[in-house]
Amino acid sequence: AKNRGGHSYQFFNDSMNKNAVRRLQVENQLRQALRNKHIQVMYQPKVSLRTYEFVGLEALVRLNIPGTGVINPSEFIPLAEETGLIIEMGEQVLRQTCRDMCQWVKQGMVQGRVAVNLSAKQFIQPDLTQRIMTILREENLSPEYLELEITEGVVMEDPERAIEIMTELNNCGIHLALDDFGTGYSSLAYLKRFPIQTLKIDKAFVDDINGADRDRNMVASIVAMAHNMGLDVVAEGVVNTAQAATLSRLSCEFAQGYLFAEPLSSDAFLAHISVPASI
Ligand code: C2E
Ligand code: CA
Ligand code: CA
Ligand code: CA
Repeated sequence: AKNRGGHSYQFFNDSMNKNAVRRLQVENQLRQALRNKHIQVMYQPKVSLRTYEFVGLEALVRLNIPGTGVINPSEFIPLAEETGLIIEMGEQVLRQTCRDMCQWVKQGMVQGRVAVNLSAKQFIQPDLTQRIMTILREENLSPEYLELEITEGVVMEDPERAIEIMTELNNCGIHLALDDFGTGYSSLAYLKRFPIQTLKIDKAFVDDINGADRDRNMVASIVAMAHNMGLDVVAEGVVNTAQAATLSRLSCEFAQGYLFAEPLSSDAFLAHISVPASI
């Protein structure tokens, strides 16, 4: 885009520039949403594959801009990571989640834990545990109701350090889940040393679970290994009953996915779990 003289409109037409403009827009919207505390949290139920009963939930962030519509995490999370805004965003998500969960627990509406995703930058904050414990205290939620999801990729960047951080969180009574399992490169030696309670099998494996034997065998091995280590297993992205049946046959006990429910607003979530599952 250099020396185009009178043809500078071409500059604004090229797609690289459109991306840059969109990025700036999203970044500004994120900054504004953070300032106004307009970050939205949606909740997706986690269910038992044996009974289809609700056993817990995951908090998923949304950027809901009046007039623009909803922006999904795939678009703004990477940007939030790069700009460092992810720290403030993550804390607002955690605070909102704890606030909602505190109400639901008080009302006797929910069982189990609420899972919150932790970003790479959040995870390596030196005072992470104190920050989380402060929010829990301020929002009146006991740590036993919280589970933090950390991706395999993030913990494998520095496994020894990750073990220290995870141990600290665990010692406070917070449960930990290894997210997107199978997409990174955990060695079995490390997996055994991670103080985690849950393994989340990535959607990519669930997608193909009724295809080639190889994919099914892979999931069967992951489930068996996790159970040997005393971990719960959650399958992500279950969209049909055939997948649910196969996972159940392979002894995977928990799942999330559109088959059961999409991520829901807090009101919709409460309405959803007040009505018995009907699949
Ligand atoms: P994830 O943690 O693996 O979350 C699962 C994603 O799959 C969510 O996308 C969820 O809406 C979607 N999903 C659930 N069931 C199904 C299904 O049956 N089919 C399909 N196609 N998708 C399903 P979402 O909400 O767009 O989030 C994408 C990713 O963004 C998350 O992946 C997570 O890595 C990240 N993320 C979301 N919320 C937060 C947050 O509060 N903090 C951080 N740090 N990351 C977040
Ligand atoms: Ca997750
Ligand atoms: Ca995941
Ligand atoms: Ca995933």
